Amino acid sequence: MTTAILSALPEEQSGLVDSLQQARRVTHAGRAFWEGELHGKPVVLALSGIGKVAAATTATVLAERFRVARIVFTGVAGGVGEGVRVGDVVVARDYVQHDMDASPLFARWQVPGYPGVRLPCDSALSAHLSGAVGACLESAGVDFHVNPEGRLPRLHEGLVASGDRFVTCAQVSRALREPLVAAGHDVLAVEMEGAAVAQVCLDYGVPFAAVRTISDRADDDAHVDFPLFIQTVASRYADHIVRHLLKLL
Ligand code: SAH
Repeated sequence: MTTAILSALPEEQSGLVDSLQQARRVTHAGRAFWEGELHGKPVVLALSGIGKVAAATTATVLAERFRVARIVFTGVAGGVGEGVRVGDVVVARDYVQHDMDASPLFARWQVPGYPGVRLPCDSALSAHLSGAVGACLESAGVDFHVNPEGRLPRLHEGLVASGDRFVTCAQVSRALREPLVAAGHDVLAVEMEGAAVAQVCLDYGVPFAAVRTISDRADDDAHVDFPLFIQTVASRYADHIVRHLLKLL
């Protein structure tokens, strides 16, 4: 029952690779996959690549070649929901592809051939992931990012949007969020891979869950916040959350 841990960026993966026991590096489809044991559990670590197609290829390899039992994504995202701040953590309940539009043939955002606009994550695995995040946020030993006002990071659960665009401008962020919210899809965060992995996992019947730490507010400061956050916090978040999650599986 191997768990795949997908990261978007090498900085998010490095701590996990360092902790891997009996590590074996396999390359396939131009990608590196790390097999081994993490905290006593069999895992495959992989980089998703950036964007929906790269992430779909990686997820397909994990399902087809590694026959993983579940896929867990740990990454960063831009916060777009109200009260979703830098340093907060979002566990996805479901995903939408914000750049999919085959209307009027299909509802806006619906991927043709799938039942609705939202691509659901696995509820049991997501509940474990939320539990792991909650344990991390509570454990005093973990030096989590605290924003300048001294507010502690919060866990949010809900809808995350993916598309092939790094959103670095408040106007683009509003244009993306407002129509979704008006249609009843209150989106918390935006990133570039999760919805593609969710879609592949639905195709293969592989349980999927995703956690995204908020690195920026997808606004005019995103390019400033983003590199700083990745260098200083993202990898530490991933390590702690994955350690807690593997204990629960
Ligand atoms: N600087 C990186 C590129 C990062 S692209 C490099 O040079 O390789 C942004 C990554 O972070 C994607 O994996 C995406 O999923 C996530 N992300 C974080 N903030 C985002 C935002 N505001 N908009 C879209 N994706 C975001």
